[in-house]
Amino acid sequence: LVVLDNVNKHFGALHVLQDINLTIKRGEVVVVIGPSGSGKSTLCRTINRLETIDSGSITIDGKPLPAEGRELARLRSDVGMVFQSFNLFSHKTVLENVVLGQVKVRRTEKKAALERARTLLDRVGVANQADKYPAQLSGGQQQRVAIARALAMGPKVMLFDEPTSALDPEMINEVLEVMQQLARDGMTMVVVTHEMGFARSAANRVVFMADGRIVEEAEPEQFFSNPRSDRAKDFLSKIL
Ligand code: ATP
Ligand code: MG
Repeated sequence: LVVLDNVNKHFGALHVLQDINLTIKRGEVVVVIGPSGSGKSTLCRTINRLETIDSGSITIDGKPLPAEGRELARLRSDVGMVFQSFNLFSHKTVLENVVLGQVKVRRTEKKAALERARTLLDRVGVANQADKYPAQLSGGQQQRVAIARALAMGPKVMLFDEPTSALDPEMINEVLEVMQQLARDGMTMVVVTHEMGFARSAANRVVFMADGRIVEEAEPEQFFSNPRSDRAKDFLSKIL
């Protein structure tokens, strides 16, 4: 579904993505881990063209990423993104947050959009918060609304960049559970996270990055029990 072929990106002198080759199949859950600064967020951001690349190619469903305009807006709705900071529209209610993109980008009729929004808010467990403003919600609730908002666009793939790292510990699980359910329902997902429990139980594949490269790619069981590279061993010894 998503194919990165020999992708390179620089920030000035920094070679932040180096010869990245990665294929994400439909329905697959890929967890990306690695030390701070290794390029995980940049990798995510290139997939929905929040960042451009210098060389190589990225295709979704066989089509190269569009550069601008209408096509780009459509790409952004095909590729849902959930960030560490919840990024909700603060002056809109929860319900409006989930309705807006559907009407503006997907051109869904208001009534159908409202219905879909309520269904999704129910699915992520915040149906009773629909008329509140984001600031009136807990971090875990806001993040679940952010997930519902991305899902409302009917994405082909969902990218999560450390979705739980800004949350208080007691709220992490409620967000991870929503993500687990999404994975079970067959959503294609790329998840940058330090939650190794989630990686073990939900990932089909773990991608370990260091210094802008994919150093290791393996099934979670094999990666956690028997990492091949010294970089991965070293990283795991620090976080597990
Ligand atoms: P973390 O675990 O801390 O989130 P990361 O693996 O997500 O790290 P990135 O955010 O992708 O890392 O950053 C990779 C490198 O690129 C870092 O050295 C960072 O400072 C640099 N970088 C990221 N964004 C920019 C930018 N817009 N301009 C210049 N350098 C950047
Ligand atoms: Mg990051």
